[in-house]
Amino acid sequence: MSSTDVSAKLFADAASVIPGGVNSPVRAFNSVGGTPRFITSAQGCWLTDADGNRYVDLVCSWGPMILGHAHPAVVEAVQRAAADGLSFGAPTPSESELAREIIDRVAPVERLRLVNSGTEATMSAIRLARGFTGRAKIIKFSGCYHGHSDALLADAGSGVATLGLPSSPGVTGAAAADTVVLPYNNVAALEDVFARFGDEIACVITEASPGNMGTVPPLPGFNAELRRITAAHGALLISDEVMTGFRVSRSGWYGLDPVDADLFTYGKVMSGGLPAAAFGGRADVMGRLAPLGPVYQAGTLSGNPVAMAAGLATLRAADDTVYATLDANADRLIGLIGDALTEAGVAHQIPRAGNMFSVFFGDVDPVTDFASAKATETWRFPAFFHALLDAGIYPPPSAYECWFVSTALDDDAFGRIAGALPGAARAAAQARPA
Ligand SMILES: *Cc1c(COP(=O)(O)O)cnc(C)c1O
Repeated sequence: MSSTDVSAKLFADAASVIPGGVNSPVRAFNSVGGTPRFITSAQGCWLTDADGNRYVDLVCSWGPMILGHAHPAVVEAVQRAAADGLSFGAPTPSESELAREIIDRVAPVERLRLVNSGTEATMSAIRLARGFTGRAKIIKFSGCYHGHSDALLADAGSGVATLGLPSSPGVTGAAAADTVVLPYNNVAALEDVFARFGDEIACVITEASPGNMGTVPPLPGFNAELRRITAAHGALLISDEVMTGFRVSRSGWYGLDPVDADLFTYGKVMSGGLPAAAFGGRADVMGRLAPLGPVYQAGTLSGNPVAMAAGLATLRAADDTVYATLDANADRLIGLIGDALTEAGVAHQIPRAGNMFSVFFGDVDPVTDFASAKATETWRFPAFFHALLDAGIYPPPSAYECWFVSTALDDDAFGRIAGALPGAARAAAQARPA
């Protein structure tokens, strides 16, 4: 195993100034143990850490880096934008260009508002849905993560699941009181709630295809049922595509499962690795936002020109060839992982949503919701993870996260992955519950 001395020192330093040494909890490796690697640079599909170790990156900054790291067209666009000034607090042309690029890709998105994070996008979409309908209650699904705003943190998958927190202290009963949490992929439960208080429900928010309890795709027709039931009761449907948007197809999950939600939320890929996100949808609903309407929403750095440049360069490069390559790379990676686990006698399933997937262990029922995800043998994951990490592969550090491919994966990277997997599969086979 390679040295991690420098990362260990940097982690200790970080912990003396930043709570837990990280600015987003899953980075601390709590669910897999060990020393988080401090990354100093990245190029293509390779990460380099502070000790000089190189890893094949299968996290891609949690999805955004579909073109790989430091893609020349994106870096050049960012440098050009930065040289023209970092932020003006006034409108800039690139904001409308990025909005247009997204509107052109997703038919039901007629207007778009830019924000700074996926959390802001979903929080604002919820406020808008409540303002538009004049209703208070919202429905979300257990295991779906929509960022860390109070009302949406109930039963929220990965980061929260990984830490074993049912919800979060600091979220008051009042903040969560109007949030109804239902099991995912369960139409009957939704029908039941709408039958009881349908005229109080402002919206249903769903991950277009969930990726924050591991990859748990909607059963065929589930999203269409959400559309039918919400429309029947005058509630809005919010499709959270922060993870899937412009990753799984040119039009995100909408391109694979074209259900017309009222509002869509985006982040991750759309800003190419810089902080920007968006929500958009029906013009009449979006028209209720300030300054046109009374629903307030704002942001000092929203539509930041450097972030716009990164997003535009990424989306403009993301043509059909890019999506075909992402799919092919996912096929190849899933094939290698499945073969190695089968060879080592490890029961597993690898649910998939386009080019996103995750690895669940155990001879258990197919995972269709958060409860079935939790019923898998997640205790095998740390051993699998660390064997890969030691061999220079960087998978997501939690069983409840997706694996993300880029177009930059090449034969060299796949050679390293193929070489590492048999040992990692044996480590998973030998793991024992804690
Ligand atoms: C990542 C994510 C968010 C939150 O985005 P941030 O930019 O981390 O605030 C919201 N929804 C989904 C589906 C996500 O995957």
